Parts: sequence; structure tokens; C-alpha cells
Amino acid sequence: MSAAYQLVGLAQHYAWGGRRFIPDLMKLDNHGDSRFAEWWLGAHEEAPSIVMTPLGPQPLNYAIAHDPDAYLGEACRRLHGERLPFLLKVLDVSEPLSIQVHPDAAMAQAGFARESAAGIDLHAPERNYRDPYPKPEMMVALSPFWLLHGFRERAAIEAALEARPELRGLSPVLGGGTMTDFYRYLLLLSQAALYEILSPLILRLQNEETATDSPDDWMARVGDPARPDCGLFAFYLLNLVCLQPGQAIYQPARLPHAYLRGRNVELMANSDNVLRAGLTAKHVDAEALLEVVDCSPVTPRVIAAAGPDARLMRFELPGETWFALDRVGLLAGEEVALTASGPEMILVVAGAVTLSAAVATLQLAQGQSAYLQPGTPYRLWAGQGGTAYRARCP
Ligand SMILES: [Zn+2]
Repeated sequence: MSAAYQLVGLAQHYAWGGRRFIPDLMKLDNHGDSRFAEWWLGAHEEAPSIVMTPLGPQPLNYAIAHDPDAYLGEACRRLHGERLPFLLKVLDVSEPLSIQVHPDAAMAQAGFARESAAGIDLHAPERNYRDPYPKPEMMVALSPFWLLHGFRERAAIEAALEARPELRGLSPVLGGGTMTDFYRYLLLLSQAALYEILSPLILRLQNEETATDSPDDWMARVGDPARPDCGLFAFYLLNLVCLQPGQAIYQPARLPHAYLRGRNVELMANSDNVLRAGLTAKHVDAEALLEVVDCSPVTPRVIAAAGPDARLMRFELPGETWFALDRVGLLAGEEVALTASGPEMILVVAGAVTLSAAVATLQLAQGQSAYLQPGTPYRLWAGQGGTAYRARCP
């Protein structure tokens, strides 16, 4: 049997989140002026969405555990086991997140087994691998979105060090060595050495005119001369990217990245495996990070939505099979017919959309969402126009 149910997500209140965007989008009250960093749709154990079934509201992970065949289907279970493989989020980034890297599948399995065997509690701050899954991520910008994404070309890094007197002493350290060795050196610098190198640079840049949103500008804004952080080097080592609304980017396993500012829709594997490299108060395990991080240069690939027409646009991911994201854009009176081949989620981000399946019709206003069981044919229709994101198995 196939079905379509309304799905209710949950907000996450992290310190880097904004105060207005998510409450406005989700039509939530924020009289307490809380920070709303993320909105989660999925079956994550710690913040499952609620699925409105005819049996009553159920946490999605509970509903899946009790009827995996109906909620996941055969193909998805074969690939991913008894769990929803992806998590859909809305992010409102008002202050930079940590520099981070996620493991690939083999690294995640090995790391999870190693730390479990060592008896490290799953929730301990020094635990790096909280589950045995990789965590590829993709995101679509809902506003201009700034992020760091992968290492720059070596020549660009060398030029960045040479151009700043405070960093010039690092050029011989990089020398003819590998970028990984150089990155290790930077991550293992003592607080005293960071103070000596970075504080004069931050102070100088804070007292100069810097080009808006240049690496120097980010350094001046994010850097604290009283407590410089090894993550700050990333502004010169990694590609600084600004996505325009509607543009997407994909972060494969092992690629270092950091979200700096903006709003997005993010689709990721349902995993908590994050290795951090600074700009955080959380645990930084440099050696564990260096095992995973890929320091080879990348040219950021901005992904534009493509499709037969604006009603259904796809974001083509490079070689990715973990998840897929589509954007449905309907003008007044338009509709599109779809079928959920595996588990799917629909999130309306603007206007309103009517979802009609054989078994149910759901009115989804801005901020509302639905879960579709595999095998469900359905239509999306917008009386006054509407935009939705569709997360699914590829
Ligand atoms: Zn990430």
C-alpha cells in the first residue's frame, strides 16, 4: 500500500543561527527571540519528524521501524538497511560554522568500529564517529550564500602566503612538501604560535579597508586577535565561494568545507560523522581529521538546476547515488505529475501546493511538508503558485 502523509519537522537552536528566517518561513512564533539555526525533516534518532498517519502522529523513525516495507520499500532497504538514508534541512547561517570534513563509507565504518572497540561513549565530546555512515552533503542557496569549499590550487595558496607579511614565514614550511603535511603543521601549531602569526594579521586587517567578503575581510571579521583559531588559515587555503539563490553545490566525502553566511536547503546522508578543523569550541582531533581530509586542489563546481521546464528542475550531482534533490516551481494553476519510486519528502518554501494522491489530498502551505511512501503516484498543483523541494532516492 502506498500513502502520502503530512510531515512535521523540528527546529534546532544552535548559537550560529539567525532569529527571523526560519520562524518566518515556517510561520512559527519567536517572541523569545531564540536563534533558529536549522529545520530538520527526516528520521534522525535525536530529532525525528512527526508523520501524521491515520493511526495518529508518529515519530518517523518509529513508523519506519514498525513498517519498513511501506515506508522505505525494497530497493531502499537493500541499499541502506532499515533506515531513511537522507535528512533534509533548512539552514539560516548568521555566523560561520566550523571547518569540517566528513568520512567516506569505508572510513566511517572503520572509525565507528575503532572508537566503539575503544569504549568511547557515543555521546562523548571526543567521539568522532557516532555512526558507521558516510555523510555526503548538497545544498541549494535560498539567499546569496558564502562558504569555503575544498583546497585551492597550490600556486594560489603560495601567492596568498607571500602577499601577507605576517604569513610569509610559512612559505618555507610549505616549501616543496605536500599540502597535507603543511595542513598538519598548521593544525598542530600551539596557541602561542597562532598568537604570534595570526594576531598581528587580524589586527592589521581590522584597521584597514578590506574588499567586501574577500578572504582578508572574512579574516578581519571572524578572527579574534586575543584568541586566534587554527581554522582561520582556511580563508587562504580553501576556495571562498558565493552561491546565488537557486545555485547548488555538492560536498563529497573528505572535502573540507565551512558554511559562512546565508540561507539554504540542504540534503545530506543521515549521519553525525563530522571531523572539525577549527572555528569551533567543539572537539578538534587534528590527527583523525588529517586521516580523512583530502588536500588536493578542487575547482568548485556550481550546479544549476536543469530540467525540461520550471515545473520540475533537477540538480545533477557528480556520481552521487545516495540522494537526489529536485525543485518544483509552479505558477498559478500549474501542476506536475510524479511518482515516488522510493521514500520521498516534499517541502514547500513559497506559496502553497496541493498534493493529491489516490489515498489522500494534502494542502501544504509555505513551510509545510509531506512524506511519500514508495510506489505512490501523486500530483502537485498550485492554485496561486508555489515552490517546493523534493528529496528522494535517485
Ligand atoms: Zn558538512
